[in-house]
Amino acid sequence: MARCRLCGSEAEHYLPYARLWICSRCFVERFFPNRIRRTVEAYKMLEGSEKVAVAVSGGKDSAALLHSLKEAFPTLRLIAIHLNLGIQGYSEEAQRSVEELCRSLNVELEVYDLKAEEGFTIGDFKATRYGRKLCAVCGVVKRRRLAKIAGRLGVDALATGHNLDDTVESLLAAFTGGDFQQLVRLKPVLPAQPPFPKKIKPFHRTPEREALLYAEILGLPFNRRRCPHVSGSRSLRGKSLLDLWEAEEPGFKYRLLAAFERLIPLLEPSVAQPEYTYCRVCGLPSSQPLCADCKRIEALKRVLNRGQN
Ligand SMILES: [Zn+2]
Ligand SMILES: [Zn+2]
Repeated sequence: MARCRLCGSEAEHYLPYARLWICSRCFVERFFPNRIRRTVEAYKMLEGSEKVAVAVSGGKDSAALLHSLKEAFPTLRLIAIHLNLGIQGYSEEAQRSVEELCRSLNVELEVYDLKAEEGFTIGDFKATRYGRKLCAVCGVVKRRRLAKIAGRLGVDALATGHNLDDTVESLLAAFTGGDFQQLVRLKPVLPAQPPFPKKIKPFHRTPEREALLYAEILGLPFNRRRCPHVSGSRSLRGKSLLDLWEAEEPGFKYRLLAAFERLIPLLEPSVAQPEYTYCRVCGLPSSQPLCADCKRIEALKRVLNRGQN
């Protein structure tokens, strides 16, 4: 029987990259929140922050994030933000999970219903020229609205559940695609861009399977369904390839992250970041005269209006 390296009792879990046997209790009470605390401190994520918004999708990552932030930083004031994207057979359950989670943690929740507020759902983009890359459109729509709501709530930071696997996959995709502008933006802290607050990723060093393990051990309510639009997405393929590599070479994802973190400061001075201006439609900060969000909404409106004629 393997013993927990932290307390000596029977260990249920093995973390190959750390060659660590650990019991469920030490994992959720010590190992997991300690890593969040160290990550947050190492990147100065919460410096000067009292009130922080957490984007909660209903999935395992954001459920684990909300819970562990509360554990690691008990004096921090947290507000959860949930976007209901109107995806049939998915969004209803996601919202229910979020409501249950926030109730059990006693965290204030702000729900934004895309259909009720703006009259469309993510699926409506299928009919537009962005329809083949629905996950990318969804990303733009979510990013913009989360930042807007967080700005309106007057929080000091917006935390998202992006984990180690998400980040390493995005870094590698930006790198192999030669998109260095995107690569240098994949930092765990992005400064505020009024009216948008700064963005932080406290799970920058948290492997995806450990966020799942944490949520499972604690029995946190989360939606196990996968979004019906996600099948065949680039990021899922990338992540399963990285899993194969990690299985052969434990610690590979951490090494890749460390290498990129050394590379980014070297690249940064030579990669011109776009000048920020304001979108002519919504008036919010944007690198283009028409922001990515408004551009997609305009394409959607054109398609929907055509349908009515
Ligand atoms: Zn233990
Ligand atoms: Zn705009």
